[in-house]
Amino acid sequence: MEQNRCPRCGNTDIDLFYQGSKGWYCRACIKFSRVLLSETRQENWDDYPADLDSEYRLNFELTDHQKIISRQICKQMKEKDVLVWAVTGAGKTELCMEFIQQCLNQKKRVAIVIARRQVVLELAERFQQAFQCKVIPVCEGYTRDIDGDLLIMTAHQCYRFFEKKFDHIIVDEPDAFPYDGNPVLQGIVRNSCKGTMLYLSATPDSKLLENCHVLQLFSRPHGYNLPVPVSVYCLPVFSYFYVFCWVLNRVKQGIPFLIFVPTIKDAHRMTVFLKCRFNVKCCTSKTKDKDGIITKMKQKKISGMICTTILERGVTFEGIDVCVWNADHLTFSSASLIQIAGRVGRKASRPDGDCLFLCFSRSRKVDESIQMINYANNTKMSIMSSETQ
Ligand SMILES: [Zn+2]
Repeated sequence: MEQNRCPRCGNTDIDLFYQGSKGWYCRACIKFSRVLLSETRQENWDDYPADLDSEYRLNFELTDHQKIISRQICKQMKEKDVLVWAVTGAGKTELCMEFIQQCLNQKKRVAIVIARRQVVLELAERFQQAFQCKVIPVCEGYTRDIDGDLLIMTAHQCYRFFEKKFDHIIVDEPDAFPYDGNPVLQGIVRNSCKGTMLYLSATPDSKLLENCHVLQLFSRPHGYNLPVPVSVYCLPVFSYFYVFCWVLNRVKQGIPFLIFVPTIKDAHRMTVFLKCRFNVKCCTSKTKDKDGIITKMKQKKISGMICTTILERGVTFEGIDVCVWNADHLTFSSASLIQIAGRVGRKASRPDGDCLFLCFSRSRKVDESIQMINYANNTKMSIMSSETQ
C-alpha cells in the first residue's frame, strides 16, 4: 500500500482499504466515487475575475456585539480553527460576511457548508443579495455549475473539491444531521480545506469547544434576552388536556404556535386530537407538502403546527409560542431542546414569547437546556480561546 490514509475522507482504517485493478482504494467514502489512495492530484482553481467586486452590502447595520465578533473572526482565522458559539437568531450569517469579503479581496477561495439543501438555496439567495460576486449553490439538483466566486453547499457535495481545496471552509451547524457523528463526511469536508475552518453553532459539542478558538455571542440583534423555557411535570393521561388548554389560550390571543412531539405517531395522534377544535396542521418528515404547510403557517392561514424535530432548526416563524410535549423523551437532546426554544422570540416586536417543556418525569436534559439558556442570557458575549480556558 502506497500510503495508509485516504486522501479524500482521511480514513486510516486499513480494513476499509481494498485492492482494485488500478491500486488500493478507500471504501469508507466509496459512495462518492472511487478514490485511489495514491491519488495526490492537485487541481487549480480558475482565477478570480480581475474585476471582482468583493464589497458586501447589507440593508441594516450590525450591532456592536456583532461587529466585535466579526472582527475577531478575521483575526483569529489566521491562527486556528474558530468556533462561533451563537444563540439561534444572533445573525450567524452576517457575522462571517466581513471575513468572506477579506478572503475575496485576497483572492482566496471560501465555501460555506450547510446541513440541509433547503437552507443552501435560501442562503445562496441571501448572499447573492449582499455580495456582487458570483454566488452559487451546490446541492442536489444544482451541480452543473460549480465554478463560482463563493460556493454554498451541502457537506455531501464537498467530495467534488478535494483535489482543488478551498482556502477556508465555513461550516454552519456542525452539530446537525448528517454532518454530526459522520466521520466520513467530516473527513471529506476537512480534506477539501487547505487552511483554517470556521464553525457556527448554537449547540457545539465538547470536541469543537476544545479544538477551536471560541467566540461566544449570546445576544440577539434586537437586544432582548432569550425566552427561558418553563418546564411543567404532568401525568401522560392529563398531558393532552394540558396541551388543549395551552392551545386554546394561544388561539384566543391570536398567537401562532408550534407543538413539538417526539415521534411521527405522536404527531398524528396530537393532530387528530386538536383538529376537532382548532385549525392546525401536522408536519413531519413523512408529510408530502411540507413547504405548502410552512407557507400557510407563515401567512397565518392556520393557527399552529404539530411537528417532530424536523422543524427544530432553520425555519423561522415570527412571534410564535412553542410547546414541547414529552420533552423528557429520549428523542430530544439538550441541544435540540435549546434549538427548539430558540424558535421563540425572533421578532423585535414580540421578543419574549412562551416556551413550555411538558415533561412526564424529571429529566437531566431538560434541566441542562434551561440552565444553558440562563447562562447565555447572563453572558451575552465573550471571546475566549481554548488556551486560556
Ligand atoms: Zn475515503
